[in-house]
Amino acid sequence: MNKRGVLLVISGPSGVGKGTVISKLFDMDDNLYFSVSATTRQPRPGEVNGVHYTFKTKEEFEKDIETGEMLEYAQFSGNYYGTPRSAVEKKLSQGKDVVLDIEIQGARNVKRLMPEAVLVYILPPSIEELKRRLIGRNTETEEALEKRFKTAYTELHEAPEIYDYFIVNDMVENAAIKIEDILEGERCSKSAMQEVLKQILEEAENLA
Ligand code: ADP
Ligand code: 5GP
Repeated sequence: MNKRGVLLVISGPSGVGKGTVISKLFDMDDNLYFSVSATTRQPRPGEVNGVHYTFKTKEEFEKDIETGEMLEYAQFSGNYYGTPRSAVEKKLSQGKDVVLDIEIQGARNVKRLMPEAVLVYILPPSIEELKRRLIGRNTETEEALEKRFKTAYTELHEAPEIYDYFIVNDMVENAAIKIEDILEGERCSKSAMQEVLKQILEEAENLA
């Protein structure tokens, strides 16, 4: 039967471990599709174009906005980030669960456009530990670190209004298991099951 995939939005302050937890989640579940975002920021060492992000110039990104190719986009720490529209819709209709790793403005927009989306916010065990992780990752300049910490505090204030679930990333595996549990539940939600329900009702009508 034709079942629609779950749109799973994952957010959290910079350095909380989103990428690490998502990677563990992908090891556990083979029905997932990762939506590769476009960005104007510079690649970090080890990041591959088309795998982690599609890296674009500001001009290219702004053209994609104009032509409506972005489902949502936002500016974060001085760069554009956005979700390409076409792959998300295609994969959901094929029954794949689509994972977006996006910040809070984007999550808000996705919820507005697609209210059935499931929004998960990852919390650090403490602010101390968040700082330790972001500094320890060793990818940001002093100035970029400051910007990211500031944004994290704003996000943390706004998150309770927007997100459906909150998960503390104490241990990567525990956090990934909790997201997997949420996903299992959401696969049975009314919106995920609507096609299945419709088909069963049609069958019942034909028999009546
Ligand atoms: P984000 O994608 O949220 O910016 P990353 O996945 O890049 O964060 O993780 C930031 C840093 O924290 C990385 O060095 C990663 O190895 C580390 N990290 C992630 N999760 C944990 C955890 N549960 N415990 C300790 N370190 C972690
Ligand atoms: P980073 O530079 O650390 O990879 O990402 C910075 C922030 O941008 C993170 O909070 C990440 O979730 C967010 N982000 C990544 N891709 C997108 C996207 O397509 N749209 C939005 N709105 N945010 C994104």
